[in-house]
Amino acid sequence: MLAVEFLNAHHGDCVVLTWAGDRHAILVDGGPSKVYDQALRPRLAALPRSASVEIVCVTHVDDDHVAGVIRLLNELNRSRRDGEAPLVRIERLWFNSVDDVAEAVAPGVSSAPWLATERGQPSGTVGASYRQGREVHRLRSALQLTGNAPFDRVVRQGDSVQLPGDVHVDVIAPDQPALTALAKKWRAAEQAKNPAVIAAAIEDRSAPNLSSICLLVTYGERTVLLTGDARGDHVLSGLASGGFLGDGPLLADVLKLPHHGSAKNVSPEFFRRIHASHYVISTDGRKHPHPDPRTLTWLVESRSPTDYYTIHFTNPVAAVTGHLEELRKGRSFETNLLQGRTVVIKLGAPAE
Ligand SMILES: [Zn+2]
Repeated sequence: MLAVEFLNAHHGDCVVLTWAGDRHAILVDGGPSKVYDQALRPRLAALPRSASVEIVCVTHVDDDHVAGVIRLLNELNRSRRDGEAPLVRIERLWFNSVDDVAEAVAPGVSSAPWLATERGQPSGTVGASYRQGREVHRLRSALQLTGNAPFDRVVRQGDSVQLPGDVHVDVIAPDQPALTALAKKWRAAEQAKNPAVIAAAIEDRSAPNLSSICLLVTYGERTVLLTGDARGDHVLSGLASGGFLGDGPLLADVLKLPHHGSAKNVSPEFFRRIHASHYVISTDGRKHPHPDPRTLTWLVESRSPTDYYTIHFTNPVAAVTGHLEELRKGRSFETNLLQGRTVVIKLGAPAE
C-alpha cells in the first residue's frame, strides 16, 4: 500500500508518501516553519528506525514550501555535529534554486543576483526565498548529500528514478525550454550591470515558479501527481513529452492542485486533460485567497455529473464553501473538508 498524506501545512504544502510498512518514504515540501513542530517532525519521528526517506524534494524556494525542510535539515545537522542518531535517514535531496538553474545554463550569471541580495535588494519575501535557497545549499553540503542525486545537476523533465518497493518517480517539470528562458533572462539582467535591472529580474515571481518541480509518483498501477506551484500548461506539456498523455485524459489516483488552487496556474483545459479520483487542495485560505472559486468550477465542469471522485481540503475555506455546495447540486462528487488534520489517501491493498 502507498499512503499519501497531506499534512496541515496552513497556506503551504507538505506531503509525505510512505510504503512497504512505512519503511520507505518521500517528502515533498515542508510547509512554512511552524509546520515542522506541529506536523512534519511528529510524522517523521513515527517512522520505524530503519526507515529511509528516499527523496526529500523542495519543489521551489518559497517559504510555504521550503521553511519546514530547512528546519529538518538543521535538526539533522545538529544531530550529526553532536554525534546523536538522526531523526531520519535521507537518501536524496532534490531542489532547484534559481541560481542553480541560471548557473547550469549560463555559468557565472548566478553571482550577480546574489550580490544584489546581499546589498539588501530585493527585500521582503523574494529576498527571503533566495536566502532560503542558499541555506538549503549550505545544509545539503554540511550533511554531505550529493546535489540532486543521481542527476548531479538541476532536476528536470524526463528525469526518473526507480525506488525500492515498486515505486517509480518521473519528473514532469520544469522542462529545458523553461530553464533556458529563465537563464537567458538572468543573463540579460547581468549584462545590464545595473543593480535595479538585476533586482527587477529577481522580483519577477515567475522565476521560482518556472523552476518548480512537478513529480509523478507511480506505485504499480497507481499514480500520484504532485504539482508544487508549477503552471498547469507546463505540467501538461511535461506529461505529453513523457508520453503520459494519450487521446483521453490522464487518469491519476491523486492530483494535488498546483499553487493551492489558484486560478492563475490552471485552466479548464488542465482539468479536461487530467482526471483524478482524489483532488487535493493544500491551503487554509488565510494568507492568500486560495483556492479560487473558478478553479473549483473548472474542475467540476471537466467531469461528468455522475463521476464519483473526492475533493479534499487540508482546511475548510469559508470563502468557497457556499460555491462548493452549489456545485454539488446534481453531481456525485464528495468533499472532504478537514479541520487542520492530515488528509490520508491509501492506494492499493493493505497487505501490499
Ligand atoms: Zn505555495
